[in-house]
Amino acid sequence: MTTTCSQAERAAQARAAELRLAADDIDGVVFGWVDNAGLTRVKSVPLARLGQAAEHGVGALPCFDVSLVDDSFTTTASSSGPMGDLRLVPDLDRLTPLAAQPGWAWAPADLYAQDGTPHPGCQRGFARRATEAVERRGYAVRAGIEVEWVVADATGDPAASGPGYGMTRFIEHSDYLRELLRALTAQGLTVLQLHPEYAAGQFEVSVAPEGPVEAADTTMLVRHTIRAVSARHGLRVSYAPVFAEGTIGNGGHLHVSLWQQGRNLGHDGPGRHGLHPEAEHFLSGVLAELPALLALGAPGAASYLRLVPSRFAGAYRCWALENREAALRLIAGSATGQANAEFKCFDAAANPYLEVGGVLAAGLAGLDAAMPLPPETTTDPAALGGAERLPASLSEATDAFEKSALLRRSLGPGLYEAVLAVRRAEAELFAGMPDADVIEAVRWRY
Ligand code: GLU
Ligand code: MG
Repeated sequence: MTTTCSQAERAAQARAAELRLAADDIDGVVFGWVDNAGLTRVKSVPLARLGQAAEHGVGALPCFDVSLVDDSFTTTASSSGPMGDLRLVPDLDRLTPLAAQPGWAWAPADLYAQDGTPHPGCQRGFARRATEAVERRGYAVRAGIEVEWVVADATGDPAASGPGYGMTRFIEHSDYLRELLRALTAQGLTVLQLHPEYAAGQFEVSVAPEGPVEAADTTMLVRHTIRAVSARHGLRVSYAPVFAEGTIGNGGHLHVSLWQQGRNLGHDGPGRHGLHPEAEHFLSGVLAELPALLALGAPGAASYLRLVPSRFAGAYRCWALENREAALRLIAGSATGQANAEFKCFDAAANPYLEVGGVLAAGLAGLDAAMPLPPETTTDPAALGGAERLPASLSEATDAFEKSALLRRSLGPGLYEAVLAVRRAEAELFAGMPDADVIEAVRWRY
């Protein structure tokens, strides 16, 4: 799994990487991280500076801990405004030449303080700590995040015609999709599926499951790649939760499976649909915390314009085998390794590190408490009296997050306060704004 290395190890690794990348005609390396608003930010260095950057990091403004979707900043009691500096340190284990940006390589980055200690507000560090906590208990989690996006032309209109899942759209964009497939594969990613999605101009790609931190890294790389390939085809990309008012949005469904000693605990067990007791407890823990977790997995005001019934978004707090309106859809899988649980309520605006870290922490709490899994919801919850809706607004999800002792504890004070401040500030930013204006304001931001 992804680990933090010492400065000396990083420097040695960078020297080897510089030689390798120079032979591949790479000129520069771009470092990506995702802020608490869910925006991917980058910095880059020329290849010759990679060693320096790996050893000491490159400067990053601490105020990006509290940046909002519109690039303004909020504050917390401990934030330092324009003062101070953090170090952005690339993880060279994941250094990847970018197929759609010749001459460039990419790496995900961690945030450190200037004295070389991990920055408490580092989202990737949080995901790593949550993964380690699961591993210390003798379990492993495999995760994957689906990516949905809308392509648009220069005027901003959806740039693909024809029906959802339609052959027309697929043929129209044959070269684009082929180049995307090639680029993702050349970058070492295992694509499982690529298809036209339901909404106008929408596509989806899914990739193979891996460790939680790696899955979050992968989703950043997949999105980076989609954007770069799209640019080469004159297409704009939107990952916003909703592209057009009243239509199906861009989900960012998270798939997870719990493993123990190489055995998938979602398969061949004595419980419902083959679940082992530990998997039931884990999923139950996540369901229990789901309203609060939405502040991590559905982080924007626009997220709640997507998370409504009858749009396959999983707006109800319930679970079931193959129920696409349940927030938690169980997928039995046709082979041992494939059984998994899909959290459909999360969207593409989420910071993937916060999302996976939060889910792991909640699942672990469910395991510790041997939480029983509630009854299954075997019909469309919209048709059921009494089905529990998930929070219907960013403010509601933030209220649940504020009450969550579990997330407060697992994120740690610095990160928790920053996320809370960002959610509150964004709720305020969009308060009272007509839905169409909220959608327009963030359509090109994520
Ligand atoms: N686009 C839908 C969403 O907003 C999901 C469609 C599907 O893959 O089931 O999550
Ligand atoms: Mg989909």
